[in-house]
Amino acid sequence: MVKTTIGAIVVAATAGILAQQAKLGYDDTPMQPNGRWHIHDGTRPQPAVVTPAGPVATPPPSDAVVLLGSRDDLGAWQMMDGKPPSWTVSDGVLESGKGFIRTKAEFTDFQLHVEFATPSTVKGDSQDRGNSGVFLLGKFEIQVLDSFQNPTYPDGQAAAMYGQFPPLVNASRRPGEWQSYDIAFTAPRFSTAGALDKPAVVTVLHNGVVVHNATPFWGPTQHRRIDPYTPDTAKGPIALQDHGNPVHFRNIWLRSLKSEV
Ligand code: MG
Repeated sequence: MVKTTIGAIVVAATAGILAQQAKLGYDDTPMQPNGRWHIHDGTRPQPAVVTPAGPVATPPPSDAVVLLGSRDDLGAWQMMDGKPPSWTVSDGVLESGKGFIRTKAEFTDFQLHVEFATPSTVKGDSQDRGNSGVFLLGKFEIQVLDSFQNPTYPDGQAAAMYGQFPPLVNASRRPGEWQSYDIAFTAPRFSTAGALDKPAVVTVLHNGVVVHNATPFWGPTQHRRIDPYTPDTAKGPIALQDHGNPVHFRNIWLRSLKSEV
């Protein structure tokens, strides 16, 4: 009798924790292709926290294309509709504004360095705190979020391959501090008939810590779903997301990589 009561309490407590975790995300979304988790599953384990060390800023090497440097020059950028950038830049720091911003140039395989800072004044929680994103080829998002003591669904936290893979660890710095992504990306490949030969693959270092290790995307990024690959995802710009939070960016550079295929 006593045993049953304790068992019932444990079951109830566990159910309570699971319900709370589920609230972080979704349980009405499709399963991911490997059948392990729902897209944005709140019950997926949270990545372990790792405190990063070392410098954030990495100046561009000599063969890099500087997309955002020390001068307030947004010449490499435009809005998605082709209009001039409406985001503001001051002292080399770009603040996110209304609408996505993208590079004029398009890329395939590259190394990309991005520095960002979420607002030092903490507002909102979960996905509403310091949300932006780095969209590779304009289609594959590496999430930008304030993930310092801010639980959210793991495949939506900072440095996640949004909606697909959480980072291997949470290497976030405090809100307002500069952070870096170093990204090596290989674009998807398609047959002449338009069938997918090889998916997009990404390696990401967050503040110098590996958080994705040559991980394939299941498809282009979407909220609550994963889109299928289509041949128009083979190349594209670097785009930065407007998610309604004022996120800062600086020192963005890119090195195109020669394809071995
Ligand atoms: Mg985002």
